[in-house]
Amino acid sequence: GRMIEVRELTKRYGGTAALDGLSFEVRPGTVTGFLGPNGSGKSTCMRVLLGLAAADSGAALVNGRRYRELERPLHEVGALLDASAGHGDRTARDHLRCLARTHGIGDRRVTGLLERVGLAGVARRRIGGFSLGMRQRLGIAAALLGDPGVLLLDEPVNGLDPDGIRWIRELMRALAAEGRTVLVSSHLMGEMALTADRLVVVGRGRLIADTSVAELERRF
Ligand code: ADP
Ligand code: ADP
Repeated sequence: GRMIEVRELTKRYGGTAALDGLSFEVRPGTVTGFLGPNGSGKSTCMRVLLGLAAADSGAALVNGRRYRELERPLHEVGALLDASAGHGDRTARDHLRCLARTHGIGDRRVTGLLERVGLAGVARRRIGGFSLGMRQRLGIAAALLGDPGVLLLDEPVNGLDPDGIRWIRELMRALAAEGRTVLVSSHLMGEMALTADRLVVVGRGRLIADTSVAELERRF
């Protein structure tokens, strides 16, 4: 399975409705842009999908199940939620090996992933000296450890230089071409129009539009 389904999802923080009856589905093998201004509920929705926050009502399903019901979570859904990438005094390779071993994944996969994200040359350097772009690459390698069919990327290009942005864009296209389902949040319409096949647009925790980029371009 490579599905994301969000149904009537509601979550309040005190007086604020972070999610207010949000429903959408993400089609397999697509890059779907999750577009909306800051504070519109995108991170909250991703955190609920990952079992890191509890919804008040509704359902957030990966492959038809709530996160805690997934049999092999790391192998079903990977996520890049922010730029924090482990202990600064560890090397990139040790960081990934440690994560991999916790989940019974071999070191060879770590070597392959470091190459895939372009960090093979700095694998023995301390994460503490990494730039934001390098941290994002490491975070993506971690998200891919279990070879998941579904990926959630929260504002992955924020703060990156043009080369870093282009690299992430191409990686997302490649992940979708491999048949993975990629949900990527952004507050930048232009960025999403360049990257995504489909757009799920939200505001104040509600669905505003669910459309293909091609359809939007035909209308303008
Ligand atoms: P986005 O990812 O679109 O920027 P968020 O999901 O981060 O939006 O936030 C949605 C709303 O929920 C905002 O009003 C935010 O301030 C609020 N919010 C998010 N997380 C928390 C939290 N842990 N405690 C209180 N309010 C929160
Ligand atoms: P447990 O060993 O308690 O079942 P998990 O392996 O599910 O824990 O998760 C351990 C940590 O890794 C959690 O903090 C969770 O946020 C994170 N995590 C779990 N699955 C993923 C994933 N697919 N992508 C990114 N982070 C994950």
